[in-house]
Amino acid sequence: MNTTSEQDVQTPLLTMSAAAGTTIHEHGQAAYPLECCGALVGRAGEVVEAWPLPNTSSENQQRRFLVSPLEYRALEQRVAAADRTLLGFYHSHPDHPARPSVHDLAAAWPGFVYVILSVRAGAAAELTGWRLRDDRTAFDEVKVIGGAEAPPYEAPSR
Ligand SMILES: [Zn+2]
Repeated sequence: MNTTSEQDVQTPLLTMSAAAGTTIHEHGQAAYPLECCGALVGRAGEVVEAWPLPNTSSENQQRRFLVSPLEYRALEQRVAAADRTLLGFYHSHPDHPARPSVHDLAAAWPGFVYVILSVRAGAAAELTGWRLRDDRTAFDEVKVIGGAEAPPYEAPSR
């Protein structure tokens, strides 16, 4: 078995704990019809926790999300204090497929993993993982292993 670190980096797999998957599903449903976003923290190739972040985009939050520079700096400090690694970010696509948008491509940074959760009519649906190519022209899909089933969705009563 040859398991050099270079091969590990290229392996298109992302392991996610059930706790992280549940957090992402619940956050996506709670934020609906707006996008939610958060950080993926853990160690190389394994998301241990998902940390919800405020969506500070001043634009249409149904289609965009933004982590502010201030929030990002605070996040880096939290990750270091918790002795974790910042692996990437997740966000939701309300009533849109779990595929990166043109905006997602423009906003992505190399080296991070991006998880997208589609939320349809308020219920968490498919969850996908992506990694930006080094030349930043496109995303390559990353297979997400583990995570959690979507929690039961209860429609708000009126
Ligand atoms: Zn997006």
